Amino acid sequence: MKNKLLFKRYFYFISIIILIMLVSCKYQSEQNPLEGEQIPDMGNIPRTGQWINLTDEQIEMMKLEGGAEIEGRKPNPISNNLLQQKYPNILVLRGSLNDKRVALTFDDGPDPRYTPQILDILKKYDAKATFFLVGARAAAHRGITERIVEEGHAVGNHTYWHPNLSKEGVERLEWEVTDTENVLNEILGYKPSLFRPPYGALNEELVEKVGELGNSAIGWSVDSLDWMQLSPEQIKNNVLSNIHPGAIILMHDGGHWTMDLLGTVQSLHEIIPELQEDGVEFVTVPELIDINDRK
Ligand SMILES: [Zn+2]
Repeated sequence: MKNKLLFKRYFYFISIIILIMLVSCKYQSEQNPLEGEQIPDMGNIPRTGQWINLTDEQIEMMKLEGGAEIEGRKPNPISNNLLQQKYPNILVLRGSLNDKRVALTFDDGPDPRYTPQILDILKKYDAKATFFLVGARAAAHRGITERIVEEGHAVGNHTYWHPNLSKEGVERLEWEVTDTENVLNEILGYKPSLFRPPYGALNEELVEKVGELGNSAIGWSVDSLDWMQLSPEQIKNNVLSNIHPGAIILMHDGGHWTMDLLGTVQSLHEIIPELQEDGVEFVTVPELIDINDRK
């Protein structure tokens, strides 16, 4: 009788322990739904770039003369398409529609906050890209500029101070292009032949001047809209829902000092492998359109 009672108590005790273990496992899995996820919750990360504790000097270097892209950029795909039809030998917006190749392009770097992270991701997936560099930033970050080329990527000219050239005119264009060429020549040993206008702002006069200076103007056919500081998910959707053979994709590896581009960095972890799974190759702009990237 005593033994029976002891067994009963023991049975209840074990049952309660098992029940507690089951409940705590379920509770834990509900507490950590993001465990193992590659993309962190971007809502918890300040979206201003100031979290890095920049010095006054760094802030000065990270200002864009024409202002943050989100303030200055006015997407004008129709005007740029008409300009391309008028100047097909100077202005390029995409590669061949028969190619299973695309070109990622990054503007406004080199930026010590984002460019090295992006280079690491490109290396991980063995993808090549094109970086349109701001001359003043290349001069300030020579090591990153050299690394871009050493790792097989192409570089282009994105002016020295990033002004809005449609407001400044052709004389300003000429010295912005020349000063950037000179600094890149000094760092890399060659002058790039690819030029991208800040904010995508072009007109007929500017396109003609780009051609006179021996450059090709490189636009894009897919805008990731990452300059709006979107989430990784939004950036990925913008790219993947507009992608096509021969696409030139606009992204940013640097920005005005207030800009946070962590969404761009994170989105690449999904965009690149998803397209590679479909057999798409990531090449540089000069490879995509078969031109020499040096003068
Ligand atoms: Zn820019």
